[in-house]
Amino acid sequence: MKKAAENASTVDQASADSEKQEQIALLVRELSTEPDDWASFPLLLALTNTPEYNRLKLCEELTELTEVLLKYNNKVEAYKPDESKIVEEMGDVILRWFVLVFQMDVEDEIAARVEGKCKKLFKHFVDGKYKGGL
Ligand SMILES: [Mg+2]
Repeated sequence: MKKAAENASTVDQASADSEKQEQIALLVRELSTEPDDWASFPLLLALTNTPEYNRLKLCEELTELTEVLLKYNNKVEAYKPDESKIVEEMGDVILRWFVLVFQMDVEDEIAARVEGKCKKLFKHFVDGKYKGGL
């Protein structure tokens, strides 16, 4: 009985691997033939990169965004980075953000969190709880 369960598990894994490879091949074909439609590229990276790699790449881009925002705020005009550098790093973060969200399959949880946070912050806004921003 245990052997049968192991065989079924192996078959399930092989089937999942095969589906994943088909999905990757389909995405590569789509991206190769639709050079202006990059919306599915984060999904390709979610399917092909390890979770550890994707977490580290998001951390790397968040660090780069943090650095440029700090320098933009803290440096005098002559040494301040261009606003375009902020846009560049925000774009990098968004790309890596979507890769990790797709890989973790947490789109609905993230949307629920954002909605809940907005409701909470709106209450603070209405109540005038903070000074200087929210
Ligand atoms: Mg970057």
